Amino acid sequence: MSISAPETSLPDSGGHFGTFGGRFVPETLVAALDELTAEYEAAKQDPEFQKELDHLLSEFCGRETPLYLAERWTENLGGAKIYLKREDLLHTGAHKINNALGQVLLAKRLGKKRIIAETGAGQHGVATATVAARFGLECVVYMGSVDMERQHLNVVRMRLLGAEVVGVEAGQKTLKEAVNEALRDWVTNVRTTHYILGSALGPHPYPMMVRDFHRVIGVEARRQILKKEGRLPNLLIACVGGGSNAIGLFHPFLGDEDVRMTGVEAGGHGIRHGEHAARFQGGKLGVLQGTKTWLLADDDGQIELTHSVSAGLDYAAVGPEHAFLQSEGRVEYTYATDDEALSAFKELSEQEGIIPALESSHALAEVKKAAPKMSKDDIIIVNLSGRGDKDVEQAAKYLLGEEGE
Ligand SMILES: *Cc1c(COP(=O)(O)O)cnc(C)c1O
Repeated sequence: MSISAPETSLPDSGGHFGTFGGRFVPETLVAALDELTAEYEAAKQDPEFQKELDHLLSEFCGRETPLYLAERWTENLGGAKIYLKREDLLHTGAHKINNALGQVLLAKRLGKKRIIAETGAGQHGVATATVAARFGLECVVYMGSVDMERQHLNVVRMRLLGAEVVGVEAGQKTLKEAVNEALRDWVTNVRTTHYILGSALGPHPYPMMVRDFHRVIGVEARRQILKKEGRLPNLLIACVGGGSNAIGLFHPFLGDEDVRMTGVEAGGHGIRHGEHAARFQGGKLGVLQGTKTWLLADDDGQIELTHSVSAGLDYAAVGPEHAFLQSEGRVEYTYATDDEALSAFKELSEQEGIIPALESSHALAEVKKAAPKMSKDDIIIVNLSGRGDKDVEQAAKYLLGEEGE
């Protein structure tokens, strides 16, 4: 599969998706970002790079992932046919390894011996620690101390893989602060170190590059649905944290006018200040961590607190390409609350024998709303971005607590 992106020429050479994106970084990082951009462009043209990436995606990560018809759930919801794109079956349990693998191969080309990353839920940290181990590179992962507590299992996994996990005590002690620490490290150690950023966020070239490494999701899904159904789907649905799994599924379909797309943000306890992470609901245009996009900030420009039951969606800014697609009206963005996500989590587990990640459960909650309103001839593809093993304790606390009343 070619990682290049023929469907659109965006971003421009400065990393802009319309008025969004770009590169807002300290001077010391500009050279590193230029070097990374040039190496990425060279790698894209290099058949050897492509060959190694394809080989490892298949043999190490387990691609291609199935496009699976959720028969019982479809029947019970009584509307459109629902297909799950099974990124949950990938090595390490989520889509994140697509990007981590692509970037570690770039780091190798760049001659960098040290890898750093930020992580929220710990999934990106685990994916990064995994590929760093595979290539014998030193690995440091920054993680907010609150997240370390919430996702202890992933902290243990990273350490078993040989990575150093550094707890971040600043601010809200979650993902935003972890990104700050990773950027600080990168500024200091830029000559020896590659920063594997974990979503379609940050300064150019990251949003473009991360998107391209995840396009394999949509490219496969497109081929698979044409083979199974002989036609394209009516609707694509994916959850949106930074937006990498969603853009990976959506991007190869952007030119297909009849394919509708819905991105689902975290509605948390509801759309009130500090209680959610739905940037398109009451967010503002601003700059955070290197990119211009929609974010949650108060009138003074201070970043607001966010909340979601899923650590992977709990971030104040959305990827700039999603801001662009929203402004163009090409993709619709909505949200699911914690309760709606948990109810979808339970339903998929019980009806399909698949325990989904809490992040993915936000996309599933939207399927529950959309499918019954559609005809039985219609087709939905929902991105099952990860598996729920990491979330069982948290889900049990909510769901069993609820039943115990
Ligand atoms: C990290 C994560 C997400 C959110 O990140 P995106 O960049 O928006 O895809 C979604 N699902 C799972 C399973 C994750 O681990």
